[in-house]
Amino acid sequence: MVQIVNNKLFEGLSPQELMDATYEASKNFQIRAFYEAKDEILEAGKYGEQEFYEILDAMIDAETERKLVLEHLKGKEPLFLGEIADLIKEFPPDNVIRDVIYLKEQGYVEELIEVKTKMVTKKIKGEEKEVEVKEYFYRYQVKDLESDFVEHHFEPVSIVYDAGACCQCGWCAAICPVNAIEVDADTLKIHDDVCMKCGLCFTVCPRSFSIDQMNEAIKKLDMSLNWSAKIGAYIGTYSGSTKNNEIMKVRQDGGVVTTIAEYLLEKKLVDAVIAVQHSKLLWKPEPVIIDDVKDLYKTAGTKYANSPSLSIIDQAKKYENIAFVGVPCMMKALEKGALFPSGLPFFKNIKYKIGLFCMESFPYEGIIQLAKEQFDKDINDLTKMNIGGGKFIIRLKSGEQLDVPLKEVQKYARDSCHYCEDLTSDYADFSVGSIGSQDGWSSVITRNKEADDIYNEIVKNGEIESKSLTEVKPGFFLVQKIGGIKRNKCKDPYDKIKNPSE
Ligand SMILES: Cc1cc2nc3c(=O)[nH]c(=O)nc-3n(C[C@H](O)[C@H](O)[C@H](O)COP(=O)(O)OP(=O)(O)OC[C@H]3O[C@@H](n4cnc5c(N)ncnc54)[C@H](O)[C@@H]3O)c2cc1C
Ligand code: SF4
Ligand code: SF4
Ligand code: SF4
Repeated sequence: MVQIVNNKLFEGLSPQELMDATYEASKNFQIRAFYEAKDEILEAGKYGEQEFYEILDAMIDAETERKLVLEHLKGKEPLFLGEIADLIKEFPPDNVIRDVIYLKEQGYVEELIEVKTKMVTKKIKGEEKEVEVKEYFYRYQVKDLESDFVEHHFEPVSIVYDAGACCQCGWCAAICPVNAIEVDADTLKIHDDVCMKCGLCFTVCPRSFSIDQMNEAIKKLDMSLNWSAKIGAYIGTYSGSTKNNEIMKVRQDGGVVTTIAEYLLEKKLVDAVIAVQHSKLLWKPEPVIIDDVKDLYKTAGTKYANSPSLSIIDQAKKYENIAFVGVPCMMKALEKGALFPSGLPFFKNIKYKIGLFCMESFPYEGIIQLAKEQFDKDINDLTKMNIGGGKFIIRLKSGEQLDVPLKEVQKYARDSCHYCEDLTSDYADFSVGSIGSQDGWSSVITRNKEADDIYNEIVKNGEIESKSLTEVKPGFFLVQKIGGIKRNKCKDPYDKIKNPSE
């Protein structure tokens, strides 16, 4: 099964070095499981023969690179990810950083966390106070491995689900090469008779292992990006409102998501958009593939129940380029699938990611209960739900608007959302939410130059009215503040998955 690696990344290495690394890579359990299940994979029909070999080749290349990075790191003192990327010049720095994080999960590398405290001056209720803050420093070093060390095997994602950490994003079901996983909004099932134990679902799952340190280190390599520990990397921050009258009638906040999606479709930058519409049951969302602009408006508006939207991505393979709208956990899932295990995305047609802000979502049953218990209303009487100004707000068919404090509805939210640290979709291209902007406006964060150019082009075309988020009230300050609160109160899912009994 070992192939001769003919990747330009390996130019300059001696044939012996490359052969040794490729030999080590060929022992990797994921590569073996994938290769040995070739017939079952082709029979399942998700990946054709050419794709099968593309994925296999990419996995072998990436594993070979990791084994070479591991050799470089042996005997070195604990180093920051940025220092490691500087040290190993043979590969692009973002590859090296990605490799170190995967080597950690494979059991070769240890993460050493140093905690320092410092005093800072903060304004609390109008008064300046000295408060103690903790700073965390992450360094990485190759472990002292016993001679009988065996690389970690990744279990199927039932361990994530059983630990109560699964956010039902649906990504594992979309990528599973033999269609062994079924995910809906509330449950996840793995068909053991079909599963070939490749662990690819674990690799790409947003809850399996952390990529936060990797993300920060990689984003900080790009000097054109601004960095915030609370909301991630960004180019621009805006407050926007659609100028399209039809979108105004159906939008949640500023109608920015639907306007961006419409622009992408109309300019043929994508052939389809994956978004969410009401299913036959009002307020129970269902993911939908939209390839005709006229169908886009039925997706506008927030449905607060969870939609496992990523589970249908493989059904959009016929489109050359697609955009995906989803919540932050889904953006992280897509990022992991693009970086691991090989740096070759499972679905290469995902061109733009439009991420929503999200504090929590609810089970559909929870939404019904919330309407009944908090407002004494049937869910079918509601025409809009919204979160704003610390309140959960509903609008009724009669036009009447009712609200309760947000803290009263938090008990209906999904438990797995307590493991979520991301408010603003750190891993999206465009992030859009209501926090920070006035009613009828959306806060917008562009995460890279292309997204920023597109947003500003839409504004220039007169389709969105836009202001700087730093110039509106409550603005960027509040987005950062709530982003930081969500990060701080998030429970760590990773320990729970590794030690389910604790
Ligand atoms: C579960 C959930 C929780 C949220 N929580 C917050 C919050 O705490 N703070 C905040 O500032 N913003 C939150 N938002 C985002 C906010 O509600 C708006 O979606 C955002 O401001 C965009 O508004 P818009 O008018 O530009 O979107 P629109 O133009 O109205 O488009 C809305 C888009 O959202 C998509 N969508 C609707 N429901 C879902 C769903 N369940 N899953 C995935 N996609 C969906 C639709 O497909 C559509 O493309 C949340 C969104 C969701 C889905
Ligand atoms: S369920 Fe997971 S481990 Fe099993 S075949 Fe699918 S991706 Fe591989
Ligand atoms: S990939 Fe998504 S649906 Fe699958 S186990 Fe992980 S969180 Fe759950
Ligand atoms: S809070 Fe996090 S886990 Fe829950 S739906 Fe929102 S992004 Fe997903």
